[in-house]
Amino acid sequence: MEKKAEKKQEKIEEKGKKVTFNISKEKNFSEWYTEIVQKAELGDIRYNVKGFIVFQPWSVMSMEKMYHYMEKTLQRKGHKPYWFPTLIPEKNLKLESSHIKGFTPEVFWVTSHGNDEPVEEKLALRPTSETAFYQMFSLWIHSYKDLPFKTYQRANVFRYETKATRPFLRSREFHWIEAHCAHESEEKAMLQVKEDMETTREVLHDIFGLPFIFFERPSWDRFPGAKRTFAADVLNPDGKVVQQPSTHLLKQDFAKGFNVQFKDKDGKDKFVWITCYGPATSRIFASVIIVHGDDKGLKFPWKIAPLQVVIVPIKNEKKILDEAEKIKNNLEEKDISAEIDLSERSPGDKFYFWEMKGVPLRVEIGEKEIKEGKLTLFRRDIGKKEVISNLDLLSYVDKTSKEIDKNLIKQADNLFNNRVVDVVDKKQLKDSIDSGKIARCGFCSVDEDGAGCAEVIEKEVLASVRGTKLEKETPSGKITKCVICGKKAKEVVYVARQY
Ligand SMILES: [Zn+2]
Repeated sequence: MEKKAEKKQEKIEEKGKKVTFNISKEKNFSEWYTEIVQKAELGDIRYNVKGFIVFQPWSVMSMEKMYHYMEKTLQRKGHKPYWFPTLIPEKNLKLESSHIKGFTPEVFWVTSHGNDEPVEEKLALRPTSETAFYQMFSLWIHSYKDLPFKTYQRANVFRYETKATRPFLRSREFHWIEAHCAHESEEKAMLQVKEDMETTREVLHDIFGLPFIFFERPSWDRFPGAKRTFAADVLNPDGKVVQQPSTHLLKQDFAKGFNVQFKDKDGKDKFVWITCYGPATSRIFASVIIVHGDDKGLKFPWKIAPLQVVIVPIKNEKKILDEAEKIKNNLEEKDISAEIDLSERSPGDKFYFWEMKGVPLRVEIGEKEIKEGKLTLFRRDIGKKEVISNLDLLSYVDKTSKEIDKNLIKQADNLFNNRVVDVVDKKQLKDSIDSGKIARCGFCSVDEDGAGCAEVIEKEVLASVRGTKLEKETPSGKITKCVICGKKAKEVVYVARQY
């Protein structure tokens, strides 16, 4: 499988060759994903460490923009940026028992240097940085006046995944932002959790166009060391969900383990309440590819497109190229990224190529356009051409870019419509999950008592309990019993298959 994929990757690297892409995303989602990652040159899987890929320019340019919007939003809400070391001493990880237990199987350890001489102490390549941040929190936080203490960093983290890896979706190294905040009370920490959810909506939904549902995870699915875990599930066209940002209210074990105390207004020493939030940029990028792409290739929301406008000269003649250059400069002056396709491909091949790459707008310019003072514009999101006066280009781009984003968000939101169905027993549950739905059902308990029923769902339905909504729904109507054991339902939960 991997060999075959490698061969294909070599082929498309023959520059200037015709690139065609036409795979049904609905019918062959898996093949579609593998192919688009290679053809659009998003990630090269041939790097010779298993589970690691090279991020190529087309994905990096988009992810840089994604980072920009996420960081800007976090900073606006009072988070300060940090860059922490990649290495974490083993003793830090050990300070919180469930944390070390949860992460140990996935940790890459650094145990030697130089000629295999042992390091003074065993070090972890950060799988996540709670235990790096909080040790420093104890040095920086002294008084209630220091709170809330809101931080974040953009970083790459390492986890030895044993499940099959997939570019951007699951790799042994991924790129993310982790935000860590200390608060004076549990109530204030919970407000932070809600703010993190709002941030997710503002950035992932309103800018990246990703629809999701935020769930509180059941007790058996919490982040190691968390009192409460909330996570956003994005839906794939094949009905499976991908977990996107999660935000956690941590148990005070972390604050106690690292002795993060503050003097409160009443003069007493108290332990802080900590929250952490982790939007994984590379995995969010996977959802952008998956949610927006179609059978012809990628589609990018305007603000995070690696390239916003491609200019295709119908012939490589001086008069046409001069005009193309003028258009490019005009767009760039307005901070719109633009490129002229000067390759040897035929105009038709150029059209296919840039549609596959997901460039939101294409400007076509030939002799006819120059003579008439017009331009032909093509919108990737709806696949339609429009002819405009060349004097109107900037106002057209300004207006259309907004329409493109609105349209992509609407299309993506529709993905969720009719996808959530109510079920009352195991058979209905299995049938609806098999047909690519998210099931809403009654459940006995999201505490340890319900773990048995959750296991039945994992084994027999091959799906998992994603959790409850933040605004808890009370069982009512036909949802009154646990979908598995039939006992009186305490909760309304959602069940889906996960990537
Ligand atoms: Zn049950």
